[in-house]
Amino acid sequence: MVISKICCIGAGYVGGPTCSVMALKCPNICVTVVDRSAERIAQWNSDKLPIYEPGLDDVVKKCRNVNLFFSTDVETAIREADLIFISVNTPTKTFGNGKGRAADLKYVESAARLIAEIAQSNKIVVEKSTVPVRAAESIMHILRANQKPGIRYDILSNPEFLAEGTAVDDLLHPDRVLIGGEETSEGHQALEKLSWVYQHWIPKENIITTNTWSSELSKLAANAFLAQRISSINSLSAVCEATGADVSEVARAVGLDSRIGSKFLQASVGFGGSCFQKDILNLVYICEGLNLPQVAEYWQQVIHMNEYQKTRFSQKIIECLFNTVSDKRISIFGFAFKKNTGDTRETPAITVCKTLLEEGAKLDIYDPKVEPEQIIDDLTHPCVTDSPEDVKKAVQIHSDPYSAVRGTHAIVLCTEWDEFIGLDYKRIFQSMMKPAYIFDGRKILDHDHLQQIGFHVQTIGKKLNR
Ligand code: NAD
Repeated sequence: MVISKICCIGAGYVGGPTCSVMALKCPNICVTVVDRSAERIAQWNSDKLPIYEPGLDDVVKKCRNVNLFFSTDVETAIREADLIFISVNTPTKTFGNGKGRAADLKYVESAARLIAEIAQSNKIVVEKSTVPVRAAESIMHILRANQKPGIRYDILSNPEFLAEGTAVDDLLHPDRVLIGGEETSEGHQALEKLSWVYQHWIPKENIITTNTWSSELSKLAANAFLAQRISSINSLSAVCEATGADVSEVARAVGLDSRIGSKFLQASVGFGGSCFQKDILNLVYICEGLNLPQVAEYWQQVIHMNEYQKTRFSQKIIECLFNTVSDKRISIFGFAFKKNTGDTRETPAITVCKTLLEEGAKLDIYDPKVEPEQIIDDLTHPCVTDSPEDVKKAVQIHSDPYSAVRGTHAIVLCTEWDEFIGLDYKRIFQSMMKPAYIFDGRKILDHDHLQQIGFHVQTIGKKLNR
């Protein structure tokens, strides 16, 4: 066998699902996922996994303690592995009085240092985390500076393209797997070994290989393009509201052009998640460092447009509610950054909720998968009012949507959970204050039906008659 033991450093949204699917499809390979968080590892070893992903429970149940292991014993896992994925978080750091933002590679560096310290045999080290271009150089530098005699390291770039909410399906049937490596015969051999692992379930023609720097840049570029499409359609949603055009009709007409395509053309309250903003900021930072200010500015605009959209939507809510939400109770439907995940990183709901709280509103929040503590944590760090205690007093978290609407003036839909489509809105209308408003930030509800019930409906990119 080419590779018999794999270790993955980082048991998060990427490391966990990726290794679970790898273990499922490669029964002869032993896959160990390690993390420095004992709590996270305990959750991976329990019935309640630390992340929600459709289909993941089944995969983990099939493989766990067969050829898939979750452990805090980083040392043993690294020592025994032929191939090590680095799948740690790469958060954004600020510098220059908060003006500059770039990827913080401290966790990638610490993972590289761990490998250098522990390894006693040849290792293929794979960047799974999304990193700036030429990050592999830094990893190689750390590894080679601490190299023990007779040990060889090969570094590969293998960025992950899964999307939260569809991670298992994305991993089982990826559009492509990308592997970048050094353009030497040893680099090529390492690349072939990782390719062999993926070939257990992915057709060879879907595994593309490039040099390391193209691979690193392609991941940033892919996220930048996806976010750009959302910002482009969101920019047009403002034009639609001002002119009487309907953004859904515009998106359909534009997307049917096969050169453009229909995906990622859904106008909304804005994009969220841990990756889009972070990866564009990363690209911007790289361009600034390369003295390419025009290119940096070009991509920065994608983020500006997203911020504008979130603020525009929040302001619209306040304007419609007679320009004051002070002491009004408002229901928030959905807090996760998108459906089918409990992840709230960079969720637009944070901006919406914080704006409403700043204006004195009281919030009744319901999300089917986000833990209440997470919502309170997101709304109190950094705090918008005098103290976190004020926020806690102004926010109630509900475990059912019907209790979240009792006596409220408006519903603000921030996440496109399917269950919001099928609710009994007649019942909801009856339990709310009048006039009752719905602000559909994801354009998933039946607006005609809601208007017939008596709701005042506002959405994105379309002026509604009432
Ligand atoms: P995450 O925060 O969910 O998980 C990272 C894990 O790494 C954490 O559990 C942390 O405790 C652990 N960790 C950090 N340093 C460690 C160390 N030295 N030793 C052991 N464990 C350590 O992050 P994520 O969402 O899984 O993202 C990981 C990387 O993948 C990021 O670079 C991200 O940009 C990229 N990515 C994320 C997604 C996504 O949808 N979340 C998709 C594609 C790529």
